[in-house]
Amino acid sequence: MSLPNIRSLSQQEMIDFFAELGEPAYRARQTHQWLWQKHVRRFEDMTNLGKDLRSTLQAHFSLEHLEPATVQQSKDGTVKSAMRLPDGKIVESVLIPAGKRMTACVSSQVGCSLDCAFCATAALKRMRNLEPDEIYDQVVTLNRQAEEFFNQKLSNIVFMGMGEPLLNYTKVMESIAKITSPEGLGMSPKRITLSTSGVAKMMHRMAEEQVPFHLALSLHAANDDKRTQLMSINATNPLSMLAEALRHWHQATGRRVTYEFIVFKDFNDSPQDARELVEFSRIVPCKINLIEYNPIEGGSFEQTTPERFERFVGILEAAGCIVNVRRSRGKDIDAACGQLANKTH
Ligand code: SAH
Repeated sequence: MSLPNIRSLSQQEMIDFFAELGEPAYRARQTHQWLWQKHVRRFEDMTNLGKDLRSTLQAHFSLEHLEPATVQQSKDGTVKSAMRLPDGKIVESVLIPAGKRMTACVSSQVGCSLDCAFCATAALKRMRNLEPDEIYDQVVTLNRQAEEFFNQKLSNIVFMGMGEPLLNYTKVMESIAKITSPEGLGMSPKRITLSTSGVAKMMHRMAEEQVPFHLALSLHAANDDKRTQLMSINATNPLSMLAEALRHWHQATGRRVTYEFIVFKDFNDSPQDARELVEFSRIVPCKINLIEYNPIEGGSFEQTTPERFERFVGILEAAGCIVNVRRSRGKDIDAACGQLANKTH
């Protein structure tokens, strides 16, 4: 039988464990530091704990860390890592350099249970949720890569890799708590964005809990019929429900929401589509990220033409929307949005 992973223990559970052994509480703090800040690989390297204590830990727990199985760099600098999990499964994480900005794009599940028509991860199905330490380790690895490749620190973290973070709610929240804790990586929650396909119930929960980070919604159509064709989750979480959740979120946090919108040729790129988006954008203060479509194998969609794109942007801007155009990054190594599908494995 395999031993429990010591990194799945909460701080309290760790303190309780040491209390049972008759050890003082500061042992828990020391151990926590080895596990989450010094990233030791072996109990025997926890040199400020006595030898016997190290052996006791070894007898009770396993110590797991994620390792990059392969690392690829794109022509544009983007670095994609296939991360090997303790059970041998693989998830992908992407480091995206953009001037002073150095963004880590992390996965929250192995595969994904949703089946968005335009996303390559959908083909993998959902294999399992990631544990908090597995999400945390992606950030640690990308942070190290940021130093190694670019001599910079991570500035931002986006939950836009594989999986739907709000369908792995508790573990994702735990990972963010650790990433932002001074006893973890001490990163600012203002630098973190969670992107969801729109799980209304969980968006309400984020509002109730007044989580301190940013929210992005993968919108892609502001019309239920079209959105359901793109994303089947819209059948059970239609725009009216999302609108309610967004209002709740904004009331509770005061924060602006980001909408992600891929402009597909002859599907959602007409003036009418733009006007529907304008309408939706009035629900709460927001900005709109227009994402370039990254074609996927077997996909039936196409990126719109530059002319239709300009017309679309023009309508949004004339209506006063804040619009960013996001060019795709890392396309040549299948590291761009929607392309994460463990192809090299
Ligand atoms: N499940 C979450 C997070 C992962 S997807 C969500 O849906 O938001 C991260 C972003 O990439 C989403 O906005 C998604 O819609 C977008 N995306 C997926 N496939 C894409 C593709 N082929 N081209 C461009 N963007 C894509």
